[in-house]
Amino acid sequence: MNPKNLKLLFSLITGDMFYVEEDELRNFATSHVILKEKPNGSCKKCYGRFYIGKEVHKNYYIPCPRCIKKYADWDAMKSDSLMVEQPRTTTDIADKSFADAMKKIPGM
Ligand SMILES: [Zn+2]
Repeated sequence: MNPKNLKLLFSLITGDMFYVEEDELRNFATSHVILKEKPNGSCKKCYGRFYIGKEVHKNYYIPCPRCIKKYADWDAMKSDSLMVEQPRTTTDIADKSFADAMKKIPGM
């Protein structure tokens, strides 16, 4: 496996980070954030987990506002049209585009 073709994803559903091949990115759509690299463990907000907590009502992990700015690969997400639009704040993700995206996921 060529490491250059691997992308790091963060799942908003499970709170896990994992690598997938670039070709498979589309399968992960809007419930995942593509990361440029693994978040630094020294972040005071998330300690490298990339999330700061869980939205209990909607059942997804809230991305760290500091790390999402630093590590989210917005270009990759745009080029594959994985995200509806670049979220302005985490509140936007929670209340608008993400909630809409969640409804489209089978079984949610
Ligand atoms: Zn962080």
